[in-house]
Amino acid sequence: MLYFKQLIPILLIYFIIQSCGDHKKSDLKIIENPDAIDSIPKAPQLLYGFPVDSFKVVGDKVKKNQFFSDLITSHGISYSMMNKMVKQGEELFDVRRLRAGRDYTVFEKKDSTEKALIFVYEIDRINYVVYDLRDSLTIYRAKKPVKIIERSAAGIINNSLYLTLDQQGYNPELAITLSEVYAWSIDFYHIQKGDRFKVIYDELVVDNESIGIKRIKAAYFEHFKKPYYAIQFSQGNHLGYYDQENRSVRRQFLKAPVKFSRISSRYSKKRFHPVQKRNKPHLGTDYAAPKGTPIYSTANGVITHARFSKYNGNYVKVKHNSVYSTQYLHMSKIKRGIRPGVSVSQGDVIGFVGSTGLATGPHVCYRFWKNGKQVDPYRQNLPKAEPIKKANLETYQKIKQVVIASLEDIPYPK
Ligand SMILES: [Zn+2]
Repeated sequence: MLYFKQLIPILLIYFIIQSCGDHKKSDLKIIENPDAIDSIPKAPQLLYGFPVDSFKVVGDKVKKNQFFSDLITSHGISYSMMNKMVKQGEELFDVRRLRAGRDYTVFEKKDSTEKALIFVYEIDRINYVVYDLRDSLTIYRAKKPVKIIERSAAGIINNSLYLTLDQQGYNPELAITLSEVYAWSIDFYHIQKGDRFKVIYDELVVDNESIGIKRIKAAYFEHFKKPYYAIQFSQGNHLGYYDQENRSVRRQFLKAPVKFSRISSRYSKKRFHPVQKRNKPHLGTDYAAPKGTPIYSTANGVITHARFSKYNGNYVKVKHNSVYSTQYLHMSKIKRGIRPGVSVSQGDVIGFVGSTGLATGPHVCYRFWKNGKQVDPYRQNLPKAEPIKKANLETYQKIKQVVIASLEDIPYPK
């Protein structure tokens, strides 16, 4: 595993690049003797693979109600050529899918004719399509390089984790990823003012801009003055998070089968049924969520049922071990490929929220079976996931030491 110490040189280079102001990353070199700067030939600056010096480069964003034809013809490209571009490029990019706000660039001839030679459109943050008009027309799709950069962050909670990170200019996706790591131990709706955290993570970067969080490598969260460590470690084929006492930070079961939902009805032995209009036990926990919201298997297991029944609607049942099974009712759709005998991991999507069967509105009724009886999962002392195995203990201890030291080195903001 590539870890922090090995990454220090890479990080240093990165910070040098960051502090070099207007230099583009691509033309940066590490200079041993600063007096020799002029003797180093400058590498040409490339944009989508083309040397910008050889063209007059014009770029803009697609405006509202602008069509492909507007962009093309306003740069002096003929209608017949445009038709050729649309037709020949059909398989690579459907021009009807042009979106306002996306970047496009025209590489023009560097003389008074300003003839358009190359047209590039960014399909999304990574993919772009190139129409090269220089010889006969050549069209291809390519991807911008996505860099993975290790970064760290620290914060002291004033209001919410999301705002704390957002106000400091971090990608707010980090808040979501961090709350997922701690989903089993910290309730992020009840974090305290003064709680604080540090995190080391890999960020996905395109054109010096963050496009997402690849993974959290290590984190420290101080909640009610109590330390919670989460250190990523692989035990064979399973990548998990473990704490300072070599325990898994996860439980064998997720708290809920859907994200960002609310419990609309709890498990109870006696409840007035809204559809049947009579008192009857409600042996599940209902989570209200919009139709189509993904439903996750709350633990590893094997599918035993995936079908429709009159009361349950579309439902799935997963057997986790000889003691526990879970069941998910009223799905709008069971996920393709989910059928009896199929293995699932904790967090795998098994279906989507709906209101099939006996249900008033879109929700998932989550049923928790222990030794063949339905029980309230919130009253169970659910087992923790497996700790660090004996065979991995020595390796983990070493990594843990390095990681905890790296976390301690991250300063809190003033
Ligand atoms: Zn229910």
